[in-house]
Amino acid sequence: MTTPAETIGIGASSDTAFVEFRHELFAAGLLHPTSVDGVYGKSAAYERIVEGVLASVTRLGVGRFEAVHFPPVLARSTFDRTGYLSSFPDLMGSLHVFEGNDRAHTELVRRYEADGDWSEILKPAEVVVCSAACHALYPLCTGRLPEAGRWFEIQGYCFRHEPSPDPTRMQTFRMHELVCVGDPDMAVTHRDSGLADGLRMLRDLGLEMDAVPANDPFFGRLGTILANTQLEEALKIEGVTPIYPTEKPTAIMSANYAQDHFGSSFSIETASGNVAHSSCVAFGIDRITLALLHAHGLDPYRWPPEVTDRLWR
Ligand code: AMP
Ligand code: ZN
Repeated sequence: MTTPAETIGIGASSDTAFVEFRHELFAAGLLHPTSVDGVYGKSAAYERIVEGVLASVTRLGVGRFEAVHFPPVLARSTFDRTGYLSSFPDLMGSLHVFEGNDRAHTELVRRYEADGDWSEILKPAEVVVCSAACHALYPLCTGRLPEAGRWFEIQGYCFRHEPSPDPTRMQTFRMHELVCVGDPDMAVTHRDSGLADGLRMLRDLGLEMDAVPANDPFFGRLGTILANTQLEEALKIEGVTPIYPTEKPTAIMSANYAQDHFGSSFSIETASGNVAHSSCVAFGIDRITLALLHAHGLDPYRWPPEVTDRLWR
C-alpha cells in the first residue's frame, strides 16, 4: 500500500521515471509484461533475489516465530471479519465462480461468444484474494493465548487493485510478515524492535533506509479521519528507500500496531482474559527486490560480494 505522499502529485516526470525503470526491467528480462499494469512474469534471476530476501527476513525471526505459509486466497468469512472492505473497498479483490446448471452454462457461453458480460452469471466464491499476508492468521488465534502471546512468521501473495505503470506498485506481490499477538506491551515492543531489525537488515543489503510515520490509504471522507488518527497515534511507520528522483522515497516495509482491531474481531484473549492486541512488521518482498536491482544494478550476479554474501549465505 502507500503513504499519501506516494499517491499525490504523480506528474508527468514521475510517470516517465516509472516507465523508464519498468522498461529497463523488461529489457533486462527480469520482468515480463502482461496486458495489465502491475501483473508481471518474473525471471529466474529475479526469483533468486526474492529467495534471498525471504531468507533474510526468516533469519530475523528464526527460533522465535512460528512459520506459516498461506495461499493467495482467503476465506470470505475471514475477510469479512478483517474490516478491510469498509476501509479499502477500492483495493480489495473478490473471486467469483460458476455454479449454474446446463441452461446457465449455455447462456454463459452465449454471452462469452458475443463479447457480452458473462461475469454477471457468476456467484461469489467462498474465498477472496488476500489483501495482507497476516489476515489468514487471526482465526488460528481465536480463544485464549498462552502467557507469552503468539509469534508468527507469515509468507503469502497479496492482491491490491492499484494498477500503475510504476513497477514497484504491483497488483499482486509477495509479503513476508513478522506478527505478534499478545498484550499491548508485547505488540508495541514487537512493532518497534521488528522495525529496527528490518531497517538494519535492509541497510546491510546496501539500501539507504529511512523510517517515517505513515498512514494507510483509507477510502473516502471517513478515511481521512481514520488516516489522521493513525498518524496522530503513530500506529504505522514505514521503512522507505529512494528509487525515483522526483518522488518521495518508496515504502518497502512497514511496522504496524493494530491495537485490539484483530483481537476483538477474531475473539482473541490474552492469558489474563483481556482482548489481545497485535502488531505486524511487513516486508514487501517484490519492492525490496526492485529496490535492490535499482541500487546495485540489473545483473544480480555482478552485485558487490558484501550484498550477495548476505543474500545467498
Ligand atoms: P502495507 O500493509 O500497505 O504497509 O504493505 C506492506 C508492504 O507491502 C509495503 O511496505 C510494501 O513494501 C508492500 N506493498 C504494498 N503495496 C504494494 C504494491 N501495490 N506493490 C508491491 N508491494 C506493495
Ligand atoms: Zn499484517
